[in-house]
Amino acid sequence: MTKIIGLTGGIGSGKSTIAEYIHSKGIPVYIADDQAKKIMDDPEIVKKVREIFEENVVENEKLNRKKIAELVFSSPNLLKKLNEIIHPAVRENFNKWLKNNEKSNFIVKEAAILFESGSYKDCDKIILVTAPQDIRIERVMNRDKVSREQVLDRMKNQWSDEQKAAFSDYIIDNTDLSISLKEVDLILKELNKM
Ligand code: ATP
Repeated sequence: MTKIIGLTGGIGSGKSTIAEYIHSKGIPVYIADDQAKKIMDDPEIVKKVREIFEENVVENEKLNRKKIAELVFSSPNLLKKLNEIIHPAVRENFNKWLKNNEKSNFIVKEAAILFESGSYKDCDKIILVTAPQDIRIERVMNRDKVSREQVLDRMKNQWSDEQKAAFSDYIIDNTDLSISLKEVDLILKELNKM
């Protein structure tokens, strides 16, 4: 059976950077956020999502993700309903992808909300990427051209690193990238022995 290795970390920790590196080593990597965005363009999903909102959230037959993010931010009930549509669709998409990669010893699933969504329970091992909060905030402010407050707002709904660490098998302190990548090499070596 192909093993599922979860890869996660808070906003700005550098998990996408690490995921890219792992992918460059020839390991299949599933990027949950990218797939979720694609799924949200699926006409069936657009129809279902449109029905849960009173406001118009569709533009040119596509969901206006920014507007949806704002609406669910202030309504846990709407967020729950949205997740009830998106999460099963992402799960199905992942299972199909996994089947296509069943020849691999292991695959990596990168997800920002691996813990928050509960999908960590399906992982055989979990890699957590961390970095000091101040550094993460700076990185995201630079990358996304947003304010400190906007980054802090996004961080609010995520589990703390301490909570995540308790369920993780490998923890990468991604302050110095060259050191992180060496750690990744060691982890991959161990995973190859599984
Ligand atoms: P998000 O959850 O917001 O998608 P992420 O955890 O995937 O964030 P990345 O996008 O990989 O994080 O990294 C955030 C920014 O920090 C990027 O611009 C990336 O190039 C940079 N970065 C990643 N790792 C390091 C590092 N060790 N040193 C300096 N910059 C880094």
